[in-house]
Formats: sequence, structure tokens, C-alpha cells
Amino acid sequence: MLSVSLATGWQLWASHNQTLTAADTNNLNLAQALNIYAEGIFTQSDMLLQGVAETLKSEGDASEHIQRVQSLVSQQKHLLDPLDGVAVLDARGNWLMYSKGPVPPGTNSAGRPYFMHHRDTRSKEVLISPPLRNPFTGEWGIAVSRRLEDNEGRFAGVAVIGLGLTNFLRAFGTIALADSGTIGLSTDNGQMLVLYPYREQDIGLDFSKSANFQRHFSGTSGTASFRSSIDGMKRLYAFRRSDRYPVLTTVAVGRDQALKTWRRLALLTIAVVGALLAAVAAVGWRLIINIGRRIRAEASLVAAREDLLQANRRLEILAAQDQLTSLANRRGFDEMLAQESRRAAREGQPLSLLMLDLDYFKRFNDAYGHVAGDQCLKTVATALKLGVRRPGDLVARYGGEELAIILPGTNLAGARNVAQFLLEQIRALGISHGASPHGRVTVSIGVAALRGANAGSPEQRLVEAADAALYEAKARGRNCWIAQDD
Ligand code: GH3
Ligand code: MG
Ligand code: MG
Repeated sequence: MLSVSLATGWQLWASHNQTLTAADTNNLNLAQALNIYAEGIFTQSDMLLQGVAETLKSEGDASEHIQRVQSLVSQQKHLLDPLDGVAVLDARGNWLMYSKGPVPPGTNSAGRPYFMHHRDTRSKEVLISPPLRNPFTGEWGIAVSRRLEDNEGRFAGVAVIGLGLTNFLRAFGTIALADSGTIGLSTDNGQMLVLYPYREQDIGLDFSKSANFQRHFSGTSGTASFRSSIDGMKRLYAFRRSDRYPVLTTVAVGRDQALKTWRRLALLTIAVVGALLAAVAAVGWRLIINIGRRIRAEASLVAAREDLLQANRRLEILAAQDQLTSLANRRGFDEMLAQESRRAAREGQPLSLLMLDLDYFKRFNDAYGHVAGDQCLKTVATALKLGVRRPGDLVARYGGEELAIILPGTNLAGARNVAQFLLEQIRALGISHGASPHGRVTVSIGVAALRGANAGSPEQRLVEAADAALYEAKARGRNCWIAQDD
């Protein structure tokens, strides 16, 4: 997710820079084209002034010569679109001729800076003045002027062309600029000649001391981005300095304007990418929550199953166990006997069974009470459990005061020994039984064994045989054991 954000950010940054570079290139191309336009106008003005100068030089300024100059000017005038008028001044600044009409008597421009410049400077270069008001119309314009000399090379006056600002502005106005875009024509050293869009207060602005002008507008052409000292707006600037005239063309567009389309695109991209990331995050989050839930659910299921299994095991044990003596009950006995009988048949092993019955137990209960009878049963059960030696031997409560012992892998001879041993163990407990002729609690035991493979239900026959032996033991006076076949 982080990498998507980084990639998007990087892409937006790159397209931001591309946008600015493209705006710079456009501006520079435009400045270049406008510079050619301005140079064209100044070249034509220059040529016209040269024609005037040559004519007057060879022919003097007598009034019929002035007439000739006048007609020369009116022939050429149509070539110059922004031309306001052409004037010829004599060496004292008096107006000799004005292309747009008769000169009012006494019109004198000896005080104008361009006149003084040409009078005092022996250069034949044209001078481009800062904006001046036309003395007749009052319109703002630029004066392009040239020194006139007589045949001896003495100062003979000035020929001057007025270029109306409105004509420049009209030309600049045909160019589609963004809202805060500007086009400027200034002198080489930073005196504003024309600034489009036009504002009266901008006329004659002097940037020659401006840090931005000095820092960014050196060389022939270039681009720069800075905050305008006029309106404080950040713009992208491009400039082109004329190779032939001391003028500079600048084109500027608002930085925000240039980035407008980019910004809209960037916001859209951020919104779309943000929405996608949010969706992915939401899905991921839900997935994480669901996985967590599932893990917890599974864990509690496993725990519940474990509890159930344990409960089942407890139930199974309970179901197969006698409550009073904790021995296997009749059900446990039946299962175990069936299982051991199958194993014996499978492995060809012997299997023996002891059936024990407490002697005169009814009398014991009658004499000592049922609670004492229960206690006696428990004691006998524990003694039997401790008395059998092999891990596979199982002592069970067959029913009432009758107990049974399964002896896997034990033949009849072995079972006889066990019966004798247990008989003595019980006797040795010494639980007194006043109602018994033996004076203490005793048992009678019937012993039987299965031998080899038997058909039918071998365990039932085993039980019957042991039971029959027990019956025989009882008959023989109790407190003894009898084995099958005895
Ligand atoms: P015998 O020597 O012939 O076996 O005589 P007996 O009295 O032991 O035999 P009988 O079958 O006549 O009586 C069995 C008695 O065992 C009946 C009952 O009072 C007693 N008994 C059976 N189960 C329990 C028991 O769970 N607790 C107690 N306290 N006595 C029991
Ligand atoms: Mg009995
Ligand atoms: Mg009995």
C-alpha cells in the first residue's frame, strides 16, 4: 500500500515538473515570436528614418524638400502598422514637418530627452525612448528617433517616429493568454515600454534596479519563476533580448494557472487512488477481523470438543465402573471378558476366571447394618485389587456381594494359586463377622479356565463353569475355593 502511495506521489511530482517545463517552453517560443514582431517594427521605423535622414542630408531642409520627405513618409506609412506619425525637427527643436497634418506654429521639442540625446551624441543609431505622450493627441507612444546631420556632419535636427502603444496592445491582445498572463516589451535596461494587459499606472515602470530583473533577465533568452513585484503574483517568465535593438520581450503566465489542469488531474488521481487504497484497506481489515474471529471460533470449538471428549471418557468410565467399590461393573466385566476371550482364541493363550462370593453376607448386613456391609464390600474389593499381580488382571463387581476376576494368559493351575492366595488375603483382613461360623468375613471362590480354541460363546461357558465351581465351594462349607473339574 505504501509503494502504491509512493509511486503515485512520484508520478504526480514528475507530471508537475513536466507541466512547468512545457509552460516554460511555450513562453519562450512566444517571446521569441514577439521579439521578431518587435524587431520588424523597429527595423521598418529605422529604414524610414534613414530615408528621411538621407533625403534631408542631400537636399537640406528647405520647405520643398520637406514636402518630398512628407510624400516619402506617406508612401511608406502603410507598411508600418503601429505608426502614429513621423516628425522632423530642426537643430533648435522646432517642428518642420508632421506626417499627420500641419504643424502648429511654434511647436518645439528641444526639451525632450530624445532631442537632447541626439544633439549631444554623434551616433547614427536609432534611439528608442521610454513612453511619451504625443504632444498633439495626448496618446501614449514610443518615440523612435535618429540624428540628422548636414553635409558637413553638423547636427541638423532629429527625425522621430511615434509608435502608438494601442497598436502594440492590439497585436499582443490577439494572443490567447491565461487570466494572469502578461506580455511586456521593455528597453534593454528594464524600462517598460508596453505591458499587456494595459494599465495606465504601469506606463513608464522602471525595473532597471529590480533584483528580479537583474538576476533573471540576463543573457539573450531564458526562463525564470518568481513573484511579481507589481501584483505579488507568482509567475513563470520567459524573455528574449533583441539582437538588433535595445529591447527585451517578456512573456509570463501565472504559475497557478499553468498548473491548473495538472492540479485538477492530481486531485482526481489522489481521490481515485485514495478511494482504492481505502477500499483495499477496508477489505483487508475485514479479512483480518474475520480470520481472527474464525481462529477464535475454531479454538473454542476445539476446546468444546475436548471438553466433550473428556466428558465422554468420564461417562464411559462411569458407565463401566461400579460406584461403591470403584471396580469395573458388570458391563465393564462383560466387555473385558469378551475382549480377552477373543484375544485368547486368537493368540492361543489360556484365560481364567475367578467368581467370588462373600459368605453369609446377608447375616453380616443384618448384624452390622447396611452401611457396614457397604464398607466391608469396599475393603474386600480393595484387597482383591491389590492382591492380583499382573497388569492385565481385572477385578469386577459381578453383582451384589459377588465379585469376578479375569486372569488373561493364566491357566487353571495358575488360577488355583491366585484363588488360594486371595482366599487367604481376605481371611487375613480379619473383618469380624459374629454371625458366621468362621468368625470373620470370608469368601468362597469358583475357579474356571478356557483352554485353546472353543466354538460357540466361550465366555458364557467360562462364567457358567466358574459359577458352578463357586456353587460347589459354597456347598462344601464356604471359605474355600473349588476349581472346575475338581
Ligand atoms: P451365602 O454364604 O450362601 O452366600 O449367604 P449370603 O447371605 O451371602 O447369600 P445371599 O444370597 O442369601 O444374600 C446375599 C446378601 O448380600 C443379600 C444382601 O443383604 C447382601 N448384599 C448384596 N449386595 C449388597 C450391597 O451392595 N451392600 C450390602 N451392604 N449388602 C449387600
Ligand atoms: Mg451371593
Ligand atoms: Mg454370599
